[in-house]
Amino acid sequence: MNIYDTHAHLDHIEDLSPALERAVQTGVKGVVAVSISLKSCTRTLEIAKEYSNPIIYPALGMHPSDADRNDVAACIDLIKENVSRIIAVGEIGLDFWYKWVRKDKEKKDEQREVFQAFLNVARETNLPAIIHTRGTWREAFDRTKATGLTKALFHWYSGPVDVLKDILDAGYYVSTSPSVAYSPQSREAMSYAPIEQTLIETDSPVFYKNRDTDDEGFKAEPKDVLKTLSAYSKLKNVSEDKTLSILNNNAETFFNFQKFQS
Ligand SMILES: [Zn+2]
Repeated sequence: MNIYDTHAHLDHIEDLSPALERAVQTGVKGVVAVSISLKSCTRTLEIAKEYSNPIIYPALGMHPSDADRNDVAACIDLIKENVSRIIAVGEIGLDFWYKWVRKDKEKKDEQREVFQAFLNVARETNLPAIIHTRGTWREAFDRTKATGLTKALFHWYSGPVDVLKDILDAGYYVSTSPSVAYSPQSREAMSYAPIEQTLIETDSPVFYKNRDTDDEGFKAEPKDVLKTLSAYSKLKNVSEDKTLSILNNNAETFFNFQKFQS
């Protein structure tokens, strides 16, 4: 089996070496390693140098929850210096999910300023953008489109279907996580989006638990992308083999892994 985990926080996984070994044993060929801050960007680049199996594809960016305008310039320099070694700008975005953020205009404006700076860099460098958004899906989409990006991935999309429709019409992609096994929002979005514009991921080391059952949940690592595949192919009612071959093709097209390797 050859499978990609298109979104993992490798710099947040405690015992990374054995986790990556388990990933290889499960058939994981490559992992897109996203970053959330300046420190995380530096660490992610190191991890990509340290490991070659699975192939680590680094993405550099600043997560909206870690948005810090003082670090933006240094982070963008890092992207420009490493443009041939990175696969995407990410993860970046807007997150107005929590009430305290929604009430804090200064926080929201800082997120907007940081997000826009990274969108601009994605356009300038011609790299795809990996976007996180919750509670403000419409604005995140509008900014991406208005910046003129041709390649954007709205990761772990579980927002409203009307924004999803516009994302897909713009030729952008969405991805899903192990939550597609049980989350009504994830399932609704993934039922709507065609397999051809979808990717699968783990967002490791996120902890997944279906609160409606008494299962104990699990802390994700890249090998768990198989759980995403299994739940997703059941939802789409397409065989795992067929689903995976489409998903791999999508990942290779979206990220241009080929170019990275040469
Ligand atoms: Zn993430």
